[in-house]
Amino acid sequence: MDFRQLFDKKSSTYTYLLADHGTREAVVIDPVLDQVERDLNLLEELSYRLCYALDTHVHADHISALGRLRERTNCQTVMSAQNGATCADIRVRDGDSVRCGDIRLDVIETPGHTAGCVTFKVDKRIFTGDSLLIRGCGRVDFQGGNAELLYASIIGKLFCFPDDTEVYPGHDYNGYSHTTIGEERRFNPRLTKSQDEFVDLMKNLNLPDPKMMMAAVPINLRCGKET
Ligand code: FE
Repeated sequence: MDFRQLFDKKSSTYTYLLADHGTREAVVIDPVLDQVERDLNLLEELSYRLCYALDTHVHADHISALGRLRERTNCQTVMSAQNGATCADIRVRDGDSVRCGDIRLDVIETPGHTAGCVTFKVDKRIFTGDSLLIRGCGRVDFQGGNAELLYASIIGKLFCFPDDTEVYPGHDYNGYSHTTIGEERRFNPRLTKSQDEFVDLMKNLNLPDPKMMMAAVPINLRCGKET
């Protein structure tokens, strides 16, 4: 399997490309509209055919490229059945899997940052969106966010994977690329806490709204399309 981690500087978003060497079929996770030409160019150069474009959740900080990639490549778009984004061709639930050549992406519902967050698991890698970040986690103060649910998703689901499971998040703001479950269990300052302490901390972050939230959320509910 070919695996690439791509970055959008403006929103500090990671996009992931996974491709099967044999069939040349590829998937992208969390593509950013501003980077769609870069991503299409890479797919073309490497002779990959895009089968699926997946979002881990309805993003509030950038516009998704799902709709644009579907127009340009005829790929299918994949989102959670729980997030209200009826634009997606395939709406997945916990336990579903998406297959692309030899690659199998397992869907794990990890609500809490938003009500419809999912994590995708491919062998020893998990793509956690904003549910679990490197030494952090997504905020819980809009889009159906819920601190208790996020704690349960991380402690009860993600932290049950083996320590050497590689974690690829939706963002990083500190220059880190990825982490492991073992590292986060030991060093994540938000999660080396009881549920009560975590909930208290998350309810008192007092963060400003993301700059693009008002525009991005309704557009991303349409897979990143204006209308
Ligand atoms: Fe998010």
